[in-house]
Amino acid sequence: MKKINRASFLKKGGLALAAGAGTLVACNSSGESKNEASSFDPNKKYKWNMVTTWPPNFPILGEGCNKFAEWVNEMSGGRMQIRVFGGGELIPSLEAFDAVSSGTAQIGHGSAYYWAGKIPAAQFFASVPFGMNAQQVNAWIMSGGGLELWRELYEPFDLIPFLAGNTNAQMGGWFNKEINTVDDLKGLKMRIPGLGGRVFERAGGSAILSAGGEIYTNLERGVIDATEWIGPFHDYKMGFHKIAKYYYSPGWHEAGTALEIFVNKTNFEGLPKDLQVIIETASARLNLYMMTELEVKNAEYLKIMREEGVDIRSFPDEVIQKLKETTQEVINDIVNDDPKSAKVYESFKNFKQTNKPWSDLTERVFYNKIS
Ligand code: CA
Repeated sequence: MKKINRASFLKKGGLALAAGAGTLVACNSSGESKNEASSFDPNKKYKWNMVTTWPPNFPILGEGCNKFAEWVNEMSGGRMQIRVFGGGELIPSLEAFDAVSSGTAQIGHGSAYYWAGKIPAAQFFASVPFGMNAQQVNAWIMSGGGLELWRELYEPFDLIPFLAGNTNAQMGGWFNKEINTVDDLKGLKMRIPGLGGRVFERAGGSAILSAGGEIYTNLERGVIDATEWIGPFHDYKMGFHKIAKYYYSPGWHEAGTALEIFVNKTNFEGLPKDLQVIIETASARLNLYMMTELEVKNAEYLKIMREEGVDIRSFPDEVIQKLKETTQEVINDIVNDDPKSAKVYESFKNFKQTNKPWSDLTERVFYNKIS
């Protein structure tokens, strides 16, 4: 067994701290800091446009982007001003990636699976069905090697991604008929995007793409038989409980969907160092803000739904098992077709496998037996 010397482990931390402080002092008197100081102009203002994939002021997600802009403004003492545009205000939602890539806008917010048409491997940085929860996705991206791979993927598009939000676990969606067996999925027209949609199709259903604003009408008119959206808070606001019979759990396709900020790399590198750090720090705050807000609001609205008699069901084990097997087939196809996806999936899978015994020993026991 590998021995860890406690004294040296503790000392190492202390030394690192002392060394850090020493570096700071050295830096202040070095030529390098002079360069940085010369690029710091208190009177120079940076005005950026942020395009988002969310409807304007969309609860929590769009509102979070507005807050991000306020935080950056405050932290920079007003030197950096970001104007936030909802989808359709400056450009259509799903053109945000191209707009920031080309420099039409400087910064954007969305989720990486929207860009799967351009970068199939991007989907792994949003949501993988039967993948990981928010905490695990955060750990993989921020501390488990994911971020480096993500940046490598966006680099050819002159973009830098930052982790900036998570929906946490989502619900499985709204259905007008009961799902009792795998056969009940056959021919079912459901609004379900991303990898989840591909899995649903392969399992016998039909995945329909509808923009957020059209889902309610499509479901009401029978253009679709079912839809997923996010969780109780957003789903209640959409009014789905008024037109669908059953609300199914769990969101097998989105257990912890990551959201992103993407910045034009050339513009980012042209910023003074402190503003770069401010953007990175505000992204981290946005990540936390969205998770905590959603956790609170979803619980609150689940209670409201139960009080109003919404029929909440769970997918039968047979259906979950089928969707799980189908997910692996879909992932295998993607990985076989695209070397970049293979590389990202390898990292994702390794992280998940390494993390599993730890989370099984602790959190799984906590959920099953303690809480
Ligand atoms: Ca969803």
